[in-house]
Amino acid sequence: MSRRFRSVVALGVALGSLTVAVAWQSMPPAESQPRSRALLPVMRDATARFWKGNLHTHSLWSDGDDFPEMIADWYQHQGYHFLALTDHNVLSEGEKWIDLLEGQSSRAEAVGKYRKRFGSAWVETRRFNGKEQVRLKPLAEFRSLLEQPGRFLLIPGEEITHRFQLKPVHVNAINLRDVIAPAGGTSVGETIRVNVRAVAEQRKKTGRPMLAFLNHPNFGWGVRAEDLLIEELRYFEVYNGHPSVRNYGDEIHPSSERLWDIALALRLGRYGMPPLLGLGTDDAHAYHEWGIGKTNPGRGWIMVRAPFLTAEAIVKGIETGDYYVSTGVILDDVIRTKRTVQLRIRGEKGVAYKTEFIATLRETPLASQPQYDKDGKELDVTRRYHPEIGKTVAVSTGLEPSYEFTGKERYVRARVTSSRPHPNPYAKGDVEMAWTQPMLPE
Ligand SMILES: [Zn+2]
Ligand SMILES: [Zn+2]
Repeated sequence: MSRRFRSVVALGVALGSLTVAVAWQSMPPAESQPRSRALLPVMRDATARFWKGNLHTHSLWSDGDDFPEMIADWYQHQGYHFLALTDHNVLSEGEKWIDLLEGQSSRAEAVGKYRKRFGSAWVETRRFNGKEQVRLKPLAEFRSLLEQPGRFLLIPGEEITHRFQLKPVHVNAINLRDVIAPAGGTSVGETIRVNVRAVAEQRKKTGRPMLAFLNHPNFGWGVRAEDLLIEELRYFEVYNGHPSVRNYGDEIHPSSERLWDIALALRLGRYGMPPLLGLGTDDAHAYHEWGIGKTNPGRGWIMVRAPFLTAEAIVKGIETGDYYVSTGVILDDVIRTKRTVQLRIRGEKGVAYKTEFIATLRETPLASQPQYDKDGKELDVTRRYHPEIGKTVAVSTGLEPSYEFTGKERYVRARVTSSRPHPNPYAKGDVEMAWTQPMLPE
């Protein structure tokens, strides 16, 4: 997308071929090698491509209702390339047994399906204190059964689950090595900051690329636009498939998409902060009953451009901003030149597409007013901002929509809305969509 990104890719590819070339020379002659060695030369020409993935999922390790292997298997079969299992305040590691028949009513069903899919030799049960129990396998133990080089990758993660007073503050940490205990702050913003920092500190300590992003800002009306003005915070969920997260807001709470525009306008226009990037995730918990109102997988994801399907390459792809959010619309390319942004939508027969380019212009005032209840008491919600923050500056119905910067924009982002209904929507009436990241004028 950006030139900076392209040079990073070129360097990655060059290093990749160098490594392969060196490794190749020290290997025995080709005829004595097993056939699977053929996988290696492919890397020599690796160029960046899009990988589909979900970075927010729950399993029986916390409050999800299925075994992690079953969930990973589902995502793999749906064509996903990467998946992060992100249970509440836990990494899937260590010894854990759960009761076979207690707890959620779906438990017995889950165990039955688990046995059917993976066989009795894989499923471990025991009798403990008079109860039948089944063992939850740690990620380290099952990942090699499901992962495939260049096809499917599992990434360790945690949903650092906390609150400030009654307001939920959930931060997803991706590619963690060690579990992070949630830390409290003196405000919602500070609670976000200390937990995002904890991930940055672990990254520094381990030298392992990691990501932290703020989840579902409108869940429990926990996070206001003003709480997104935290320098360390670089990503948030603009789309989350969990039915309780209030993506669309209400009369006094802006939608997650409007929170994004307000935060972008203020970060770029007033505080000189880096932009906030958007993510789409499932936040799936329910894998047995399907439909609107169930916390099912498959609703929203990201497409990340990276040369390799490794946790490091995916994290780096996200960090360069070369990814987009989708609930069904596929973009074959997002091309950024000095003056323009162009999308290439993968059109499907019988489906119409509308692309809106959304911007906040430099001239748009950033002032705001508080909101009051009917008794005149100030509400603890996002302030009111100018309606032209996040204004649609161009619309296209073609498959290669483009926008030319006028020099007046603080940022431009694109949203593609298709005419095709989402097969298992977050809310009734939802259609398949895609969102690019905000792009800044050069
Ligand atoms: Zn959450
Ligand atoms: Zn969650």
